[in-house]
Amino acid sequence: PYTGPSAEEVLALRKQYLSPSLFLHFKKPVMIVEGKMQYLYDERGRRYLDAFAGIVTVSVGHCHPAVTEAINHQNQLLQHTTTIYLNNQIAEYAKELADRMPGNLKVVYFVNSGSEANDMAIMLARLYTGNWDMICLRNAYHGMSIGTMGTCGQHTWKQPMPQVGFGYHHALNPDPYRGPYGDDGPRYAADVADLISSATPGRVAGFVAETIQGVGGAVPLATGYLPEVYKMIRAAGGVCIADEVQTGFGRTGGHYWGFQRQGVVPDIVTLAKGIGNGLPLAAVVTTPEIAASMASRLHFNTYGGNPVCSAGGRAVLRVVDQERRQEHCGQVGEHLLGRLRALAAKHDIIGDVRGAGLMLGVELVKDRKTKEPAKAETATVMEFMKDLGVLMGKGGLHGNVFRIKPPMCFSRQDADFLVEVMDLAISKL
Ligand code: PMP
Repeated sequence: PYTGPSAEEVLALRKQYLSPSLFLHFKKPVMIVEGKMQYLYDERGRRYLDAFAGIVTVSVGHCHPAVTEAINHQNQLLQHTTTIYLNNQIAEYAKELADRMPGNLKVVYFVNSGSEANDMAIMLARLYTGNWDMICLRNAYHGMSIGTMGTCGQHTWKQPMPQVGFGYHHALNPDPYRGPYGDDGPRYAADVADLISSATPGRVAGFVAETIQGVGGAVPLATGYLPEVYKMIRAAGGVCIADEVQTGFGRTGGHYWGFQRQGVVPDIVTLAKGIGNGLPLAAVVTTPEIAASMASRLHFNTYGGNPVCSAGGRAVLRVVDQERRQEHCGQVGEHLLGRLRALAAKHDIIGDVRGAGLMLGVELVKDRKTKEPAKAETATVMEFMKDLGVLMGKGGLHGNVFRIKPPMCFSRQDADFLVEVMDLAISKL
C-alpha cells in the first residue's frame, strides 16, 4: 500500500513549489499512485475506471506488462546514449515505425514531446519549400512550445505575448457541429484558398491539422475536407502535416492513422502521446526528400530515441498488433457510440455525440437550438462521475465537451459502466 504524503500534503507542496499555471481537473483533486491497464488507484487504494488515459497518452494500458518488461530489460542493459553512437534500438524502431506508414513516409526523427515534433515538422516544411506561411485551424492544439503556441487556435492556450511563429494563419474550422457549413468539407476548404490568396504571398510552407481535434473537444474534420485542402496547399508549393499525436496507433478503430479517415497521405506526420504509452517519446516521420532539407546543418536531440524509450515504443507497436487493438477500438467504440447516442435521446443537455473508435466526444449544451455551452454542468457531471469511480476527460474551447479516450484495452463492460454512471450523473443535475 501507498505510504507517501497525503493528498493534502501533496497539494500544499504543489502549490508552493510547482508553477501556478498548472491546472487540476477536479474541485476535490484526485491523487493517483498506481495504474493497471484501464484502471487507476488513488492513495487509499480506491479504483477508478480511466476514460482519459493520462490525456490520451496511455495507449495499450497502464503498466502494460509487455511494455514494462521491455523497458525494464533495456533499463538494465543501457539506459542512455545518444545518436553520436550506434545503438540497435533506435534504428530497429525507426524501421518498424516506417513500415507502418503509407506511401513514401520512411524517414523518422525521434524527439521527446508532441510540441517538439510539431516544431520540427514546421521547420521541415519551411526548409523544404523555402516558404514561410503556415495554414492551421481554429480550435487546433499542437503544443505549448514557443514555436507551436501560435499554431493553437484557442485563446486558452496562448500566453499574452506576441505569438512567436508569425506567419501562422488560422482557417475556419471544419467543425460539423458548430461550423457554418455542417459536414460539408469542401465548403470549408474554400476558406483555405481564400487565406492563401489574401494572407500569404500565394506560396505557403504548409498546412497542419489533427484529423480529429483532441484538446478542441474530439471534433472530427468535416467529410471531404482534407483532400481538398491538401490539393490547394500542394498547388501553392506547400507540404501537408498530419498531427497524429492523439489519433494514431489504431485508436480511431477504422484505421491505424487518423488521416486515413479522409483518404489522404500527408508529407509529414507527427507522433507523440500514445506512441510511448506514457514514456516521453515522440517522432516526426517524413519522406526522404523532405528529410534531406535538414541535412545542410547538424541537428541533435539529447534524449530523442534513447534506448529505453525506443524499447518501450517498439513494445507498444507489438502490443497494438498482437492484441488487435485497432479492431478492438473499432468494436468497443461502435458500441459505446451507440450507447451514448441512446443517452443523448434521453437527456436534452447532450447536444452532440461524435468521434470514432475510442476517441469520442460528448458535448453538453443548455439549449440544442442555440448550442449555448453548458460549461458549469459539464464540470459538475464530471466531478460526480469521478465520485462514482469514472475519470472523464474534458475539453473544447468552452470546456463543455467530455473527451472519452481511454486506454485501448477498455472493454465493452467498461463502456457500459461509463454510460450508466454518466446517465446517473446527468440525472442528478
Ligand atoms: N498535438 C496534439 C494533437 C496534442 O493533443 C498535444 C498535447 N495535448 C500536442 C500536440 C503536444 O504534445 P506535448 O504535450 O507532448 O508537447
